[in-house]
Amino acid sequence: MYEIDPFKEEKFSPVPGLIHKYPSRALIVVTNRCAGYCAFCMRKWLVNEDKFAVNAHQILQIKKYLLRHKKINEVIFSGGDPLMAPAQLKEAIKTLGRLPQVKVLRVHTRLPVSAPEMINKQLISVLTERKDKPLYVVVHFDRVKEVGAKTISAIKKLQTVCTMVLSHTVLLRGVNDSLRELGNLFTKLVSIGVKPYCLFHCDPVRGNEKFVVDLKKEIKIVSELRRRLSGLAFPIFTVEAPGSLGKIPVPLDFWDFNCRYFRDFKGKKMKTA
Ligand code: SF4
Repeated sequence: MYEIDPFKEEKFSPVPGLIHKYPSRALIVVTNRCAGYCAFCMRKWLVNEDKFAVNAHQILQIKKYLLRHKKINEVIFSGGDPLMAPAQLKEAIKTLGRLPQVKVLRVHTRLPVSAPEMINKQLISVLTERKDKPLYVVVHFDRVKEVGAKTISAIKKLQTVCTMVLSHTVLLRGVNDSLRELGNLFTKLVSIGVKPYCLFHCDPVRGNEKFVVDLKKEIKIVSELRRRLSGLAFPIFTVEAPGSLGKIPVPLDFWDFNCRYFRDFKGKKMKTA
């Protein structure tokens, strides 16, 4: 059954603009705006609503929440696309990123792909607000043709101010569900200094039905990729099921296993979608 919010993210939002699912990390919804809207978006419950960006009062509320939850040491600025709201992102990095308990910052974005010309000096200067904290920028790439000259130039600008640029990718039926497409994408990314980080099974969100690839087919593709790519070019491949907690690594064909079930971060036995 495909739902609009299968992972109940709303339920994990104790204060507006914050999603807290795991003990050590929290996700900040800086804005729900994006430069382009993906048909397979997993956060449709949020990005389809009226446009908003987190405000100064909400950032202070989030700060108070973090101070009450000292185990949170990693803050992920996401959305939507956080780079679409530079003023709010700057304020959030300054206020939350400088808390002593926060050791790692992440920015999740698709802007270098959807509007690379927007990665300008002003936007880059926002990221320097991290001061001495490590800042990882995770860029969403799905196809090798998305890695064009303008995007590479935007990535190079990001690489001047962040600790590392990584990528994540969603496996999509009819888009990139082939050895050739994914192999070319990851090889290209690693050649421009972007570490392929995560490859996701498409989330069972309403409207995503036509993009979901059979898990067995994905395992075949990813197993062959493991044989062909270096460890550096090879991302972790994960699946998440409604009602489960965590992005669970999928075993590959090198092992005998039953791919119909897995256990989530809490040990709960789940059926794959
Ligand atoms: S850029 Fe990300 S948040 Fe925005 S529509 Fe695409 S997948 Fe969703």
